[in-house]
Amino acid sequence: SEGPADMAPEIWEKVKDHPCYSEEAHHYFARMHVAVAPACNIQCNYCNRKYDCANESRPGVVSEKLTPVQARRKVISVANSVPQFSVLGIAGPGDACYDWKKTRETFELIANDIPDVKLCLSTNGLSLPDRVDEIARMNIDHVTITINMVDPEIGTKIYPWIFYQNRRWTGLEASRILHERQMLGLEMLVARNILVKVNSVMIPGINDEHLIEVNRVVKGKGAFLHNIMPLISDPAHGTHFGLTGQRGPRAAELKALQDRLSDGTKLMRHCRQCRADAVGLLGEDRGQEFTMDQVAEEV
Ligand code: SF4
Ligand code: SF4
Repeated sequence: SEGPADMAPEIWEKVKDHPCYSEEAHHYFARMHVAVAPACNIQCNYCNRKYDCANESRPGVVSEKLTPVQARRKVISVANSVPQFSVLGIAGPGDACYDWKKTRETFELIANDIPDVKLCLSTNGLSLPDRVDEIARMNIDHVTITINMVDPEIGTKIYPWIFYQNRRWTGLEASRILHERQMLGLEMLVARNILVKVNSVMIPGINDEHLIEVNRVVKGKGAFLHNIMPLISDPAHGTHFGLTGQRGPRAAELKALQDRLSDGTKLMRHCRQCRADAVGLLGEDRGQEFTMDQVAEEV
């Protein structure tokens, strides 16, 4: 089909059957996530490592962790029984670019068996610049980077530490490095015509006003979509923010911010904060039908 008048045909080719990049497509095309990447190289104050990475998913959820070989079996099984299946994503449960060997092996196995599946990944961005050439070579044409600040001072309230070049960094230095790596990764992807979605977690009193500036910067650098996700802070899950009583935004606050940004980079408003092992149309998670004990051995 033909795309919108304001969209170049080669971009339309990439978004038309991706349920997250096209609001229209999300009614007709299904995505699945495989949770093959458990390791992570930063600490976010909203994360508890026992659960899925909040870069993409609702915190407090534990996905079924798979090896790349198990992931291949599961994807084939889904491809055979979910006719709308179009996109395979790796969204944790840790960081897809840090746990790169598993991410790469999974994509290579699957691209070999199902060459027309679209590949997608999400990352905190710290390791992203080191992966961009391989991302391009594997024809991964959708990448999500979670960018919660463009000011490292604000970053210090969100990130207690990062692990980079074989050591741990804290404080302002940690946030400065993370910020520089996120910007570099974004620029490198845009230069290769890979579509970038930026996710930002809205944290009242910490980065809510600042997300206006984040939107301006990522739009200036060529991000295709900006997705503002509400902090879901649950004391029961023992995150730093949960323990300090940091609240998430109210629905009206989230909408007010989205409305202020609506003339910026296109805003995604239909994100469902899917699990790292979600299967099916957005909002219709069929993951429980495809746990490993139900996936045939022989495929
Ligand atoms: Fe947790 Fe994801 Fe942040 Fe890593 S990037 S600390 S897995 S939320
Ligand atoms: Fe799409 Fe959001 Fe779900 Fe990711 S978490 S697959 S962007 S709807």
